[in-house]
Amino acid sequence: MKIADIRFLVVEDHEFQREALVRMLADLGARHIFEAVDGSAALESLRTRTIDIIISDLDMPGMDGMEFIRHIGEAGVPASLILSSVHDRSLIASVGTMARAYGINLLGEIRKPVTAQKLAALIGLHQPPATPPPKPENMSFSEADISTALAAWQFEPFFQPLIDVASGSLQGAEALARWCHPERGIVDPYAFVPALEANRRIDDLTWIILEKAAAACRDWRAGGLDMAVSVNLSLRSLINVGFADRVTELVRAQGLEPKHMTLEVTETTAMTDMARVLENLARLRIKGFGLSIDDYGTGYSSLQQLSRIPFTELKVDQSFVMSALEKDSCRVILESSLDIARKLGLKAVAEGVEKRADWELLKNLGCDVAQGYFIARPMESAKIAEWAAAWAAPA
Ligand code: C2E
Ligand code: CA
Repeated sequence: MKIADIRFLVVEDHEFQREALVRMLADLGARHIFEAVDGSAALESLRTRTIDIIISDLDMPGMDGMEFIRHIGEAGVPASLILSSVHDRSLIASVGTMARAYGINLLGEIRKPVTAQKLAALIGLHQPPATPPPKPENMSFSEADISTALAAWQFEPFFQPLIDVASGSLQGAEALARWCHPERGIVDPYAFVPALEANRRIDDLTWIILEKAAAACRDWRAGGLDMAVSVNLSLRSLINVGFADRVTELVRAQGLEPKHMTLEVTETTAMTDMARVLENLARLRIKGFGLSIDDYGTGYSSLQQLSRIPFTELKVDQSFVMSALEKDSCRVILESSLDIARKLGLKAVAEGVEKRADWELLKNLGCDVAQGYFIARPMESAKIAEWAAAWAAPA
């Protein structure tokens, strides 16, 4: 969209700053600029006209920026938002997170003074609102649908490469479950994993994925790729004390060794049978499986788990990796997670590597393994060999 066609609303109580912003926008080529002195005036303005980009201060007498954001978020105003404030970056960033949580398309935050360069960069990110894709939670499946799908083995793992950051070599792939639905096509796990957990059928999915992931890993290795496979495990599956022996048999039946498989665990609910879970985890570790603490830094994936479970790998949650370059707090969490991994002798893995700059940051920070869209999206097992042959690590 050309800047001359974009309609701006500048929400700023400080007259001098408001005028300066308006001038800056006009110098950048803007032709439609409206002004408001606080949140209430801005809401009034939005009632009478369509706005594409709102540039708002946080601190204002009357209705402040936070309340204004809540109102536009709840009303579903389709405008994009740029925040500007004199406050420190972590505070502005947390209001940014709040705006996103209200469903607002946040273009970014500027710590004052606003410059034409920063403003132009954020305006360049604006895109007219598209029709939003249906949210995964809108897809609901009955218990009967899921039972049929489990019985027919309609679940398939897709695989996302795991790359050794220092050497750039392929060292494994994570199995991510997909439901190959006869009518709806490929369905992502957010639409069925929670339902399987709730119906206590997650174990059935786990065994299907373990079986197919082990078979895929066998094929890759037979084709000359020296790589391992990672599988997501619900802690619920570990309540059964026979789990470790059964998964060892499954792996060996494919001619693999336990060291070729890593089990990624996230604690999503408070566990009551922790003793049995720990028994299984200790046994898996003794047998030689890799054990990864998944989504590290979120929910229950915490320091307490690190001290009681014999992990071999720490997987930093993608939310910190993706935002490390924009948010100081995420970068600090990423750096300290890598530091903890190093001090505990764990392999550090970063997921959610979306851009070249994320990859470079991880390289500089000495992270061991990276995974993310910058490297590859999850793919079918049969595509891995072709992908690996074409893969060239970024310089
Ligand atoms: P997870 O284990 O944290 O897996 C990483 C998710 O991030 C995957 O989503 C992956 O496709 C996505 N991802 C990878 N790289 C990027 C990136 O650069 N940017 C962004 N934005 N996302 C990226 P997916 O496949 O939709 O899986 C979602 C979650 O479902 C997984 O999160 C995992 O917790 C769960 N899940 C998947 N397969 C299984 C399974 O077989 N069993 C169980 N219990 N849970 C599973
Ligand atoms: Ca995972």
